Amino acid sequence: MADTIVLYAAPGMGHMISMVELGKLILKHYSHKFSITVLYTTGSLVDTPSIPAYIDRIRQSHPSISFLRFPRTAAASQPDQTRSMAAVMFEFIRQNDPNVRLALQDICKTSKVSAFIIDLFCTSAMVIAKELNIPTLYFFTSGAAALGVFLYFPTINARVDESFKDMADTVFEFPGLVAPLRAVHMVEPMLDRNDPAYSDMVYFCSHLAQSDGIIANTFEDLETPATIKAISEGRCVPHAPTPPVYYIGPLIDEEKASGSAQSEEECLSWLDKQPSRSVVYLCFGSRGSFSEAQVREIANGLERSGQRFLWVVKKPPAGTCKQIHGVKDFDLDALLPEGFLERTEDRGLVMKSWAPQVTVLKKEAVGGFVTHCGWNSVLESVTAGVPMVAWPLYAEQHLNRSVLVKDMKMAIDVEQREGDGFVTGDEVERRVRELMESENGRELSEKSLKVREIALGALGELGSSRKALANFVKAIE
Ligand code: UDP
Repeated sequence: MADTIVLYAAPGMGHMISMVELGKLILKHYSHKFSITVLYTTGSLVDTPSIPAYIDRIRQSHPSISFLRFPRTAAASQPDQTRSMAAVMFEFIRQNDPNVRLALQDICKTSKVSAFIIDLFCTSAMVIAKELNIPTLYFFTSGAAALGVFLYFPTINARVDESFKDMADTVFEFPGLVAPLRAVHMVEPMLDRNDPAYSDMVYFCSHLAQSDGIIANTFEDLETPATIKAISEGRCVPHAPTPPVYYIGPLIDEEKASGSAQSEEECLSWLDKQPSRSVVYLCFGSRGSFSEAQVREIANGLERSGQRFLWVVKKPPAGTCKQIHGVKDFDLDALLPEGFLERTEDRGLVMKSWAPQVTVLKKEAVGGFVTHCGWNSVLESVTAGVPMVAWPLYAEQHLNRSVLVKDMKMAIDVEQREGDGFVTGDEVERRVRELMESENGRELSEKSLKVREIALGALGELGSSRKALANFVKAIE
């Protein structure tokens, strides 16, 4: 019987890409041992046409990865006053449990399933796999510090009755984290106890330690040694054993689907004409977007900074939300301060919605990155040797910011207004100047170049991430 590793991607393009990257990595080194099957759902609120297009592309470039798409479940419900988008997504994933059971039973008829690897949000599927005696591991797509926080979260939950969002004066100490974390900066679906997503997160996090292992997309030398130690010594899960953790990263999607090919070409050739490490790149992930007022402050700050810049601007969201999904067209001119584009045309470029980030960060011209601290963006910056300004928006980004700035000392902080996170133009100017022209910025830049070498080493034949992958394979054989 052939040995198969089954990966289960949570809904959404980002989750799918992460799982496929893991599949590619396993096949790169162990295609003689395993085939890969990726399970995924149909009909979630975050499904986009780019997902089937992406899967077709991977089917062609990597024929040994097969995809198994679940049939549509009951109509997905909508978020409302009582349930966040995250809560709706988590419920949708649970509704797919019968599909997971059928798929695993079916695959088991022809293959030995050596491992079932799930996204954190697919935790309810672990119970099914355990019933079928299939070793189940998590793929954790953030850093070790976030992993430590997630592992320890059930312990904090047991101590606290209030919603973290209402605890502006409270900080939490976490095993292995140098700096304490403000309660209001905890991971987004953990903030409000009245949202069903909160108890889902408690459930997910308490099951992390019950898995057969956790594969994390980071590398040991990027993380603070105290963090790695706290996890391996079991201090993040005080009353149960911690499963083995395999730090196999940095895994980066080098061939990401693009926005508009023409504007991307223009942006890359513009970068080729700029002096070495002279351009600050500003981009806030696949979904991060700002109010019109915030866009204008950034523009004013950039203009006053006098620095060269490449800035990706997304359509402002409706209301106070900081994320948008899939809106590509809007009037950029009307959004920016009058005359801004003309006044900065000799030193700046504004891209609508999307830039080819992995390629951009590797360009010689790029000397700094103002980032929302999404973990993929962090790893892409680290592997390109580009120093960061940390401007978190949602998900676990405040936590990533805290670790990058205070523990790892890999990024400069941005001062955000309490409550809505607004950043003034003066602050944008100050931090961009600090990154691009101060002694601190220069030191950060040197450190980033060193860490890039360490990242490459981790993935090399004798590197820590290659060893971790080998250890994972040994454990499931
Ligand atoms: N990305 C990109 N161009 C953009 C915005 C985002 O290529 O204009 C990519 C980026 O390279 C990264 C991913 O989208 O791989 C964003 O992931 P991350 O974890 O940083 O943030 P998220 O979008 O999940 O908040």
